[in-house]
Amino acid sequence: MRTIGLLGGMSWESTAEYYRLLNEFTRERLGGLHSAKCVLYSVDFAEVERLQAAGAWEEAGALLAEAARSVESAGAELLLICTNTMHKVADQVAAAVDVPLLHLADTTAEAVRAAGLRRVGLLGTAFTMEQDFYRGRLAGHGLEVLVPEAEGRSTVHRVIYEELCLGVVREESRAAYRAVIRDLVDAGAEGIVLGCTEIELLVRAEDSPVPVFRTARLHAEAAVAAALAGDA
Ligand code: GLU
Repeated sequence: MRTIGLLGGMSWESTAEYYRLLNEFTRERLGGLHSAKCVLYSVDFAEVERLQAAGAWEEAGALLAEAARSVESAGAELLLICTNTMHKVADQVAAAVDVPLLHLADTTAEAVRAAGLRRVGLLGTAFTMEQDFYRGRLAGHGLEVLVPEAEGRSTVHRVIYEELCLGVVREESRAAYRAVIRDLVDAGAEGIVLGCTEIELLVRAEDSPVPVFRTARLHAEAAVAAALAGDA
């Protein structure tokens, strides 16, 4: 099994899930006492969030590129950025290392296509819902991407940073997400991409009338498959 490199801590609430999922998928595949070979670089999310809010993406990319070089020199043979949002700087990170980057939007889009769906609603941070780096990547796989109206986007974004990244899971926020999901389904979404790695801590399959795609879970599963297959 190849060693999986993780750029995490964005937030650590979801990185902890990644760690658990990588080990669970490895045990499922290999059985017994097998667990995932991995190297984690966990950042201080406050520093990253400050750069996001300031629009200092080049600087944020440089920070993650340096982290990527660290996990590569620690033995990582493939790389995951454990957040949808920071795929905004995926090219800068990938260019800093020789090991392959497994892009979260690609693994997500492949799962949506494998489910036979084409039109999806996307929930995530405002950066992910509003900018092209993620939506465009999904569209490149032939998907049509719907996002919530402005008020829904603002609620979804606020809950991520003020609650989920702090480990707070509130029933009223789940209800608010359910309402946003319902609007997306009414607008024609056939599936919902939980395009923020913390959202799957709040929203479950039963909160949506259409299938949900849990990006952290799909990413971890694809990473284990790639680590065992010898390609990424
Ligand atoms: N983990 C989140 C994501 O998947 C949001 C935190 C961040 O801004 O990185 O987008």
